[in-house]
Amino acid sequence: MIKLERNFTPEFFTREDLDSLTNQFKKEGTTVWHHHEVKSACLKLSDGKCAFCEVKLEEASTYNEVEHFKDKKTFPDDVIQWENLLPSCRHCNGSKQRHNVVLEPIINPCNDLPSEHLYMRGYRIKGKTTLGEMTVNVLNFNHKDHKFIPRCKAGDVIERSIDNAIEKLEWFMDRQDVRRKNIFLNYVEALLGECQKDSPFSAVSATTLHNSDDYKLLKGVMEVQGIWTDYMQTLHDDSLGLILAEVR
Ligand SMILES: [Zn+2]
Repeated sequence: MIKLERNFTPEFFTREDLDSLTNQFKKEGTTVWHHHEVKSACLKLSDGKCAFCEVKLEEASTYNEVEHFKDKKTFPDDVIQWENLLPSCRHCNGSKQRHNVVLEPIINPCNDLPSEHLYMRGYRIKGKTTLGEMTVNVLNFNHKDHKFIPRCKAGDVIERSIDNAIEKLEWFMDRQDVRRKNIFLNYVEALLGECQKDSPFSAVSATTLHNSDDYKLLKGVMEVQGIWTDYMQTLHDDSLGLILAEVR
């Protein structure tokens, strides 16, 4: 989970008569939020990922749902309030169900900084705080098939990319020509690119990257060789902001 910036209001929410839609929901139970503009605004908010587990949405197995952070049965007045809507995968949405976030708060990725409340150890996400622990429990955040295994796969992609980059570094050091240098630099940029906020499971990828001794070695050698670029440093710093680090 990463921090999301709700820094825009979709036109739908300024154009439509929200009071009348809310009343329609209260009277008839109409799914007033089922509108393509609402769905696409939610996807824009999270770069097309579940706001909680960061799985890519719109794939058959994950299925995009519009999640009511304050559940619509208990808080019908918030049923079509932009601030109450988040994009969610079926598993997160189904796990949370009608959990009352006012009585027992969980992390709202638009309002809270997830890294202050969660950490990752061995691809399991744990709570650093009461808010973090409640979030892990309510979202069933270590479910084997839906959460833990996809996280392991995402971390494995990064570990393999680091291994490949190290191999390419040795290959480049062996004969330092422009062609080898450019191929190697592209590898490193691609690795860092996989750990940015618009990538699936970015918190997992970034945490895996920054926990890796091989990555630290790679970066160190590149700095000594004068081939660590400002662009790479920016990507490095941006991904560092996403990590779910343990308190040491
Ligand atoms: Zn999810």
